[in-house]
Amino acid sequence: MRKPIIVGNWKMNKTCSEAVSFVNAVEPMLHDAAEYGIGATFTALKDCTAVAKNLIIAAQNCHFEDTGAYTGEISVPMLADIGVTHCIIGHSERRQMFNETDETVNKKAKRLIDANITPIFCIGETEAQFDAGETENVIRTQVTGGLANLCGKCVANMVIAYEPIWAIGTGKSATKEIAQNCCHIVRDQVRVLFGDDAANAVRVQYGGSVKPDNIKEYMAMEDIDGALIGGASLKVESFEEIINATK
Ligand code: 13P
Repeated sequence: MRKPIIVGNWKMNKTCSEAVSFVNAVEPMLHDAAEYGIGATFTALKDCTAVAKNLIIAAQNCHFEDTGAYTGEISVPMLADIGVTHCIIGHSERRQMFNETDETVNKKAKRLIDANITPIFCIGETEAQFDAGETENVIRTQVTGGLANLCGKCVANMVIAYEPIWAIGTGKSATKEIAQNCCHIVRDQVRVLFGDDAANAVRVQYGGSVKPDNIKEYMAMEDIDGALIGGASLKVESFEEIINATK
């Protein structure tokens, strides 16, 4: 049985003090039916890991080198040092605005796994690719590139987030059937590359305009093991509704 994992991706939102207040407010609401987490900005991570007990504290990015002349970057050992346990990589906003590629995502995944930090590896097609019927090909290519040369056991412990770009921040969420089909393709590609054990264990999230009132229908689908949530993860009240909807 795969335990669902639901993570809020805060993107460039919340000061450190706002983030800590959120973590303190949400901690008592958590339950065992799923794992819950938030992806905070770098400036808030250390204080969040200091107060979090059960809430997963994730970074939103990392560099694949440990040290060096990379102005503005944060390395994996720096994240490990402050108790970060998960890290989002390959988010479409980073692919589109910060030149992230399957190759750099793959390097980041390797480095995170070596440091025992769980990658939350994002993939997903653009609207033009969706309209052109290229979704399956894009998913299989991104999964293959991002997971290249990783070990099956490592992949089994990862989280993969399928986020169609046309559904991110648009309010235009994928139907549950589309989301299921695409998460199934993700899992099938893991099966092709790493075999049954990895495919059956890896957790696949859907992301893209997930809200308290639609999360249940996604979570009921066979290949969807949770959600990566942007806008609806920012307010405690909305996150609480998501927690309650997934009991
Ligand atoms: P929204 O939930 O705001 O559509 O964002 C999804 C997302 O990008 C999560 O990583």
